Amino acid sequence: PVSSADKLSIVHLKRDLQIPTILKEHDEDDEGYTEGKVVNTRFGSFPHTTLIGLPWGSQVRASKVDTGSRGRRVKGQDKKRKREESVPEGPNKTPKLEDDEADASTPTTTKEESEVVAASSGFIHLLPPTPENWTSSLPHRTQVVYTPDYSYILHRIRARPGTQIIEAGAGSGSFTHASARAAFSGYPGSEGTNGSATKKRKLGKVWSFEFHEQRHEKLQKEIQDHGLEGIVQITHRDVCEGGFLVDGQSPGAESIFLDLPAPWLALPHLSRSRPPKSACGSNPASPTDDTTPFISPLNPTTPVHICTFSPCIEQVQRTISVLRKLGWVDIQMVELSQKRFEIRRERIGIANGTERGLQLTPASVDEALARLMEVEGTFKAFHENGEKVESNKKDKVNPNNREKIMESLVERKVYKEGRLVHRTEPEVKTHTSYLVFAILPIEWSEEDERKAREKWEVEM
Ligand code: SAM
Repeated sequence: PVSSADKLSIVHLKRDLQIPTILKEHDEDDEGYTEGKVVNTRFGSFPHTTLIGLPWGSQVRASKVDTGSRGRRVKGQDKKRKREESVPEGPNKTPKLEDDEADASTPTTTKEESEVVAASSGFIHLLPPTPENWTSSLPHRTQVVYTPDYSYILHRIRARPGTQIIEAGAGSGSFTHASARAAFSGYPGSEGTNGSATKKRKLGKVWSFEFHEQRHEKLQKEIQDHGLEGIVQITHRDVCEGGFLVDGQSPGAESIFLDLPAPWLALPHLSRSRPPKSACGSNPASPTDDTTPFISPLNPTTPVHICTFSPCIEQVQRTISVLRKLGWVDIQMVELSQKRFEIRRERIGIANGTERGLQLTPASVDEALARLMEVEGTFKAFHENGEKVESNKKDKVNPNNREKIMESLVERKVYKEGRLVHRTEPEVKTHTSYLVFAILPIEWSEEDERKAREKWEVEM
């Protein structure tokens, strides 16, 4: 589970700031430099050569020198530095490299370079590409489906390893990446983190459609760059017009996700057999012409699960109306709303109690002290009173000093220092879209009818 050249990595600066980067040994645009490309961030500069080959999760210190002037270092030296600069992520782990520790491979820095050093003392974490990381760092070309929505949607449409998924429109590819992982049982770049790469994979596929030419091209390029070819097949098409067959063949879909402005216009194409005109709503391009053979894009042997994603309730109403006419069942609409739990400090209450004339008991002093220690991790008040205090908060306080301690606590307004409590934030409106779910059962065939009849006759 390490990063490698020509593969996507996520340079994680902080929770809401991540830079997706394809790591390069050399910068093709910059002949003669062995340094390769550099990620320049507000936390400093990170040459790609120092990031290649590191375990995922490594914490990496910013380059100590001006990357422009260290461009002619040889590769072996970079490797040495790379080992020194990286440490696996984890509690209490700090990089081994001391800031002032001289790296033999680093050229002597000039005054200007030293200034760069001072400004570049930050670090990043190098993360593997996952759909979640990609969603929070991808270049937005459209509104995207975020992780809370797509995890729920993928679960409800039964996407799992081996599933054939239809997705339209692809937009910025956020849902595309998430569904690729769900269908493929593993994800390029995640090899080793869950062992999936070494196990036998069940191959599903994402059949993706996008009618906007540039968006289609950009996503096609990302799919190649991210090693998702063969897992995602993207077709440039208006699905309301042209439906979901690819090169005249059926994707055999079992799960469908439509993120379109008018999903009801695409639904007639997602039938098991030619749909009646009366069920096709207002779409003039519905596949109702019976001079051409109708090929269903669906798997005939399994129920098909669909989700449509629409911001307005009017879109939901039109979608549901057409779903009903086309024989979809178990139709439901869901709106996801998130709740944040907030952790804050709350006043201790000891001084409040005093203000209200309440009796302070020895136990309440002990309790207040214990909380104070939690807050500060030290017993400064005791030291100010000339007391030596053990750092174990369970230790009992000398009863003779309670008076003094209580006074000092009240004086210091410890109630302002507080204790930790958690509560939910007032309802935050996070409406993204309404999700409509439905199931298209397997069609009852002549063969089913014959078998059922035979069974019934035997039983009678
Ligand atoms: N789900 C995407 C994501 O997570 O990044 C975002 C989809 S974006 C909101 C909707 C996309 O549907 C747009 O890129 C648009 O070009 C495409 N689209 C709209 N109508 C379409 C149609 N009839 N056929 C194919 N694509 C269509």
